[in-house]
Amino acid sequence: MRCPFCGYIEDKVVDSRAGKVADTIRRRRECMKCGRRFTTYERIDEIPYMVVKKDGSREKFDRQKILGGLLKACEKRPVPMSKLEEIVDELESYVAESPDRERPSSELGGMVMDRLRKLDKVAYVRFASVYLDFKDVREFMDELQELLKAKTS
Ligand SMILES: [Zn+2]
Repeated sequence: MRCPFCGYIEDKVVDSRAGKVADTIRRRRECMKCGRRFTTYERIDEIPYMVVKKDGSREKFDRQKILGGLLKACEKRPVPMSKLEEIVDELESYVAESPDRERPSSELGGMVMDRLRKLDKVAYVRFASVYLDFKDVREFMDELQELLKAKTS
């Protein structure tokens, strides 16, 4: 933060507290050059990124929720946490790049499946079975067959 008195760019934060207005943080800063103090306010970017579900309803893009789903699919599988975070990062930037600040859940689900398929077949099948919400066992078996075919070819 540039010092308003001397223009120096380095400072140290001497005090932070929640502001009076919701979602603001007030920081008391001290210039590293001239030593004068000034106050800054930070506002948290509150406009959420949205995911459009199949029925047209929208929900907030939620990193934790997606990561939770991935962790569940990868339970006891040799998949490093960093890989899962990578997937979530990718999804997040994909949604953030949208000019409308939203993406269909089907696209996000598809991206997750593509990546899981390469990472771990078991995790992929687990995720697919939850995500695709197979109507019956037959549908699920068809998907498995596809998977096995892809593996042997
Ligand atoms: Zn200064």
